[in-house]
Amino acid sequence: MRCNKCDYDNKAEAVYCKNCGTKLIYNESFVEKINGHINLVAVFLGSIISILILFIGAILFSGVITSGSTIVSLYVGLVVLAMAFFGSIVTGILGCKNINEGYINGSFLGLIIIVITGFALGVVLFVFIGIFASILNSLSSFASTASTTSSSGSIFSWINLVEAIFLVIFTIISGAMGGAFGVFIKYGLKQI
Ligand SMILES: [Zn+2]
Repeated sequence: MRCNKCDYDNKAEAVYCKNCGTKLIYNESFVEKINGHINLVAVFLGSIISILILFIGAILFSGVITSGSTIVSLYVGLVVLAMAFFGSIVTGILGCKNINEGYINGSFLGLIIIVITGFALGVVLFVFIGIFASILNSLSSFASTASTTSSSGSIFSWINLVEAIFLVIFTIISGAMGGAFGVFIKYGLKQI
């Protein structure tokens, strides 16, 4: 890294400048600062709890699926929030030294859950659209009936998009709260 005073290019791990002896100031970026507080093992262990909750949610899902689409999307949202919250509690207990690390690691786990959920949803939609397209294709001789069925099954709407954005925000908040709560369980009020 370069010296702030004389611009001499020192080794990356140097503490003092080899040329002029000035203490080298390492300017950490925001991402590097956050990264220094992330405990990957604890986040990984927390994500195991999240996946367990996902399985429980999936088992209970059959009871909800007949109750209509609004209930289903609400249910999926609640499961994702529960995954972030309870997973982050474990992360907070196992790998966070203070409340800030609880927030950071918890929201990090929330972010991972969003990425995983988004990926799973993307795959499901991709398969669904593929099947739907092939059905439409095979029904192309009945073009008039096919066009009426396609309009009723629209998944993408503005309401869904708004719901998705809220879910992303709440999942990160839920993760942060869970992480902080995990630290609270471990150390009690003195760390808060
Ligand atoms: Zn220097």
